[in-house]
Amino acid sequence: MTTSRYPHLLEPLDLGFTTLKNRVIMGSMHTGLEEEKNGYDRMAAYFAERAKGQVGLMVTGGIAPNRQGWTAPFTSKMTSKREARKHKKITKAVHDADGKICMQILHSGRYGYHPLAVAPSAIKSPISPFKPWKLSGWGVNRTIRHFVRAAKLAQFAKYDGVEIMGSEGYLINEFVSAKTNKRTDKWGGSFENRIQFPLEIIRRTREAVGENFILIFRLSMLDLVEEGNTWEETVHFAKEIEKAGATIINTGIGWHEARVPTIATMVPRGGFSWVTQKMMNEIKIPLVTTNRINTPEKAEEILANGHAHLVSMARPFLADPELVKKAIEGREDEINTCIGCNQACLDHVFKQKTASCLVNPRACHETILNYTPTLSPKKIAVVGAGPAGLSAAAVAAGRGHTVTLFEAQSEIGGQFNIAKLIPGKEEFYETLRYYKKQIELHGVELKLNHKATAQELLEFDEVIISTGIKPRTIELEGMEKNTVLDYEDVLKHNKSVGNKVVIIGAGGIGFDMAEFLSHEGKSPSLDTHLFLKEWGIDGTNSTRGGLTKPNPHPSPREITMLQRSETKIGKDLGKTTGWIHRSSLKMKKVTMLNGVSYDKIDENGIHITRNNEPQFIEADTIVVCAGQVSVHALHEGLIALGKTPHLIGGGKLAKKIDAQRAIREGSELGAGI
Ligand code: FAD
Ligand code: SF4
Repeated sequence: MTTSRYPHLLEPLDLGFTTLKNRVIMGSMHTGLEEEKNGYDRMAAYFAERAKGQVGLMVTGGIAPNRQGWTAPFTSKMTSKREARKHKKITKAVHDADGKICMQILHSGRYGYHPLAVAPSAIKSPISPFKPWKLSGWGVNRTIRHFVRAAKLAQFAKYDGVEIMGSEGYLINEFVSAKTNKRTDKWGGSFENRIQFPLEIIRRTREAVGENFILIFRLSMLDLVEEGNTWEETVHFAKEIEKAGATIINTGIGWHEARVPTIATMVPRGGFSWVTQKMMNEIKIPLVTTNRINTPEKAEEILANGHAHLVSMARPFLADPELVKKAIEGREDEINTCIGCNQACLDHVFKQKTASCLVNPRACHETILNYTPTLSPKKIAVVGAGPAGLSAAAVAAGRGHTVTLFEAQSEIGGQFNIAKLIPGKEEFYETLRYYKKQIELHGVELKLNHKATAQELLEFDEVIISTGIKPRTIELEGMEKNTVLDYEDVLKHNKSVGNKVVIIGAGGIGFDMAEFLSHEGKSPSLDTHLFLKEWGIDGTNSTRGGLTKPNPHPSPREITMLQRSETKIGKDLGKTTGWIHRSSLKMKKVTMLNGVSYDKIDENGIHITRNNEPQFIEADTIVVCAGQVSVHALHEGLIALGKTPHLIGGGKLAKKIDAQRAIREGSELGAGI
């Protein structure tokens, strides 16, 4: 065992009355388990697994202090001993695993997706259809009492502390900001008045729970909205939070309504730790930094550079509950790294589905999907080493089967090898590194450059076909011209692309293609300075809310994206990331046209009809990103020979295939075979 690579990260933190075993906090995430059948058993298993993985402290998803504070109708609240008792399952499981856990108290304020929502002033947010009710003076006092009651109940439920959610634009943030607090009583007006609501909550909570209870306050250090707070105000507020009795201050970056990406994959790793660093000498209590920290190396670097005392990682613990343990044991190359995609975590929660993880379908399904050793080892062939085949092979071999993995190409990864080339998707390399290591560890026999044939598969007990997809072609006059390419020609075969480009198809791959072609030079996802400049974030903290004018690198090409359907372009992109892709391409001046029918292609461009009007768009290259078709001839060949192979991933169904479905299907089959 070696701990020398991470001396800062793995150093214990003595809080006086209790000691955290290291500097890693698992940040708060709403998973939807609270609302599931057997939700508390499932949460107990979920948190216990992460506690066993050696994380220093965990924070639960947000729990409302009353009904008005719900994020959506009937989400969890902490208002009575009856509710608190249910949480004892969680705290016991965590403590039995030698972990520590705080409960987050979150009042959603005007973000509440229900008609009971309240706020300092009756101002509707741009992201909720419900206009909030203005809290009366009596209502403000009652809400403070409810925060304190929730903290007391958390103590009764044996939590090690609470985190009071004061950022991301929720109720507390709304009180603090002049943008949302237009009150004329003692809770509004000057900044000093506006911070009294949270300060009163902290003071009275501390009084109620005593000294030996962790009280974290999540402070919005960078609002990223117009009329947000100034840095000087934020520093003053932090000092008052410390005086009021907080144990730790956690960093919040950006309100939910901010039009700047703060956690998605295009945000550079640790791209906001500089904000916390500025606060480091202002207060004495420990500071936590957060946002897009996904590896122990990055976390160590942040701490070693004095940007914070602790790091918070949330989604990385969905991807790998053992992240810290693997770092402690020097097995970091075995970490399943969070790629920041949001596809199975946040996107699910926003669709009212239980969260999971694209790269780890066991996340939040710990009692349901398990990879237990097999009692009857078999000889298994897996054909195709894309995400579906890789996950099937790794899980089946991990359980004790003898697995041979055939891949026609010279490297594993399938379409993920193309995806990783898109600026902003560099994290996808990590998933391939993870699977490469997994198949090595579990002794999978990998046959690269080997296109499997039906005949050679007959000797296996089980055959898994994961042969994936290929680009779909369309019927159109002029398609044979050499100015017409598909996405594999551009991304895999490096065919040259001109300066005026038309992209046919505006789905996920069409958007990625536009991102790829409108980009030049270093990816802003790999350089915080470029990222801040591109999105208009004031790295000097001299403007209100931390916003300046976006200044992206101009596109080297004139690009037009075309879509057949009349629906809004990008409608089917990720719920929490689609707006980022649309804004990013808008900044690059990419033209997007919907409701288009394609007439023909000639040597100068493409003829289309839109709104019953013929149009011509000049282009020297036309890239077709019009969906995909399954590759499954081998499956049929095997059936003809009397075998009953399993078919998974894009090879089974090309429509809407993504890596989330591919990895889930592979893992589930690998677990059951
Ligand atoms: P594939 O990835 O197609 O893998 C199939 C493999 O089988 C290939 O390696 C192929 O060479 C091999 N094969 C085929 N026949 C044989 C044979 N006879 N013998 C041996 N090997 C064979 N998904 C997301 O979830 N999120 C994203 O952000 C995302 N971005 C993307 C961006 C781009 C540009 C692209 C192209 C795709 C993106 N995807 C994304 C989609 C994702 O990559 C695919 O859905 C996923 O790779 C499908 O996995 P699969 O294993 O079913 O098939
Ligand atoms: Fe990370 Fe994507 Fe998994 Fe969410 S779904 S935890 S963003 S890898």
